[in-house]
Amino acid sequence: MRVVVLGGGYAGLLLTRKLEDRLPADADLVVVDDTGDHLVQHELHRVIRKPSLTDAITIPLTELTDRAEVREDTVTGIDTDAKTVSLGAGGELDYDAAAVCLGAQTAFYDLPGVEEHATPMKRLEHAARARRDFEGVLETGGGTVVVGGAGLSGVQVAGEFAALAREEGVADDVDVVLVDRSADVTPGFPENFRQAVRGELDRLDVTVHTDTAVTAATADAVEFADRDPLGYDQFVWTGGIRGPDALDGDRPDVRGTLELAENTFAVGDAARVVDADGAVVPASAQAAVRATEVAARNLLASLEETDGFDPRLEQWRFESPGWLVSVGNGAVAQLGADILTGKAAEVVKSSVGVAYLAEHGSLRNAIEVVREDVEGAPDLPTLD
Ligand SMILES: Cc1cc2nc3c(=O)[nH]c(=O)nc-3n(C[C@H](O)[C@H](O)[C@H](O)COP(=O)(O)OP(=O)(O)OC[C@H]3O[C@@H](n4cnc5c(N)ncnc54)[C@H](O)[C@@H]3O)c2cc1C
Repeated sequence: MRVVVLGGGYAGLLLTRKLEDRLPADADLVVVDDTGDHLVQHELHRVIRKPSLTDAITIPLTELTDRAEVREDTVTGIDTDAKTVSLGAGGELDYDAAAVCLGAQTAFYDLPGVEEHATPMKRLEHAARARRDFEGVLETGGGTVVVGGAGLSGVQVAGEFAALAREEGVADDVDVVLVDRSADVTPGFPENFRQAVRGELDRLDVTVHTDTAVTAATADAVEFADRDPLGYDQFVWTGGIRGPDALDGDRPDVRGTLELAENTFAVGDAARVVDADGAVVPASAQAAVRATEVAARNLLASLEETDGFDPRLEQWRFESPGWLVSVGNGAVAQLGADILTGKAAEVVKSSVGVAYLAEHGSLRNAIEVVREDVEGAPDLPTLD
């Protein structure tokens, strides 16, 4: 029997760990990931300001898995009828059960010039490029940095640019502009959360244009539906997501069972999940992690003999304890009806990232993140 997990992000890694414990000893478990590393993507924006975090948020999957075979390869297609996966290196991988955990890719919506001129923010190389471009802006005496899309990633990216400009003592020379076609930042989140995020952006002097839809970009200006073009020196695009190329760019709809096809499940951002309550689950690390328990149980159930009957699959319900967003050195935490900002929110944000690394990554990486977080803490223990 062979079970394949496609992608080693939040969904892929946590599902793999559960399957390692629960699959029969003679079952093959294969994880296919195009980088071979687990990227703690919700900290990616921080690499713009602190490139030294790169190593802390990138962990080889082989260090995080036990019995699973890790294959560094690109999934190019999935045939759910034939139960085969096509791989970039050539060849196919047959499976008895599969989990598609390939995450999402950046959507440019065919807006003329946007993909050509903007830097997306999904992978390490994107954060590194954003850092390099920002240094280029500083070398020429400053300028305008436009971030398109004010969701979780755009807000945090804009916050990093603004904080970096402050750290470099050039805040007056750099105008960080965050634009979104929605009426507010972090659209879809509760109003008190949105207001608090807006407050943190204001504190860092980030210029926010809402109700502002980007329509196109040239080499030096972003164009909008209802506003004059804005000249830019750097342009980052976090304006939307689409499904992985291996699914032809689609984020297929799955219900709370996470079943994509017989014996094939989709977990995390790769699919648009409508949960047991009929609610659309937000694409997020938090949701990807939380879905893995039901995904593991349903995948295992799909492998059981059922004498021709459909397997009994559970329904997943997304229940979020709250949301956290960092804005430069500040943070906003929504915990139930409560909103925290300032030091308390920063502590919560930092500890969540560190707890994730300590539990699912490695203690060494968690300590590296703490070291970066806690100014003047060079005496933290090392694990050498
Ligand atoms: C800057 C930024 C900040 C964010 N902040 C937050 C936050 O504060 N809170 C929150 O909940 N979420 C946040 N998110 C969103 C969160 O990171 C994603 O929702 C989450 O990563 C989705 O997890 P996943 O496992 O579905 O996909 P991913 O984590 O994207 O993992 C997908 C994996 O599949 C691999 N892969 C992709 N395509 C292929 C292929 N064809 N073949 C083989 N392997 C492939 C990738 O290399 C990757 O390892 C943020 C995202 C960004 C970019």
